[in-house]
Amino acid sequence: MSDCIFCKLASGEIPTNKVYEDDTVLAFHDMDPQAPTHILVIPKAHIASASEIDESNSTVIAHIFEVIAKIAAENGFENDFRVVNNCGARAGQTVHHLHFHLMSGREFTWPAG
Ligand code: 5GP
Ligand code: ZN
Repeated sequence: MSDCIFCKLASGEIPTNKVYEDDTVLAFHDMDPQAPTHILVIPKAHIASASEIDESNSTVIAHIFEVIAKIAAENGFENDFRVVNNCGARAGQTVHHLHFHLMSGREFTWPAG
């Protein structure tokens, strides 16, 4: 997707503050953090939202959760984090490239928002 900001971060066309990277997944700090730790974890391949996950592209989703666990463990918050996905405008999705918010460092209320 040539006009997708997260595709440009994933390809390296636009530099970002990387936390983790491998062939299929990139994690980087959110530019407008909502918690002391606020990392975005994305598939490098463009998937517009969680509603577009299917059997053809879901392998990376399992890997994303492995990466989330690894980042949490390496940063000492393995039992103290929230993962959020916003799907669709009404749920708060503003960037239409699938991403998981990995947040830690404060208390979170429930239900969210
Ligand atoms: P959404 O609202 O779609 O669930 O989350 C999008 C998130 O991406 C927001 O938290 C926003 O701050 C973050 N974001 C948007 N554009 C950029 C960017 O260019 N760089 C970084 N690091 N974060 C971004
Ligand atoms: Zn994209």
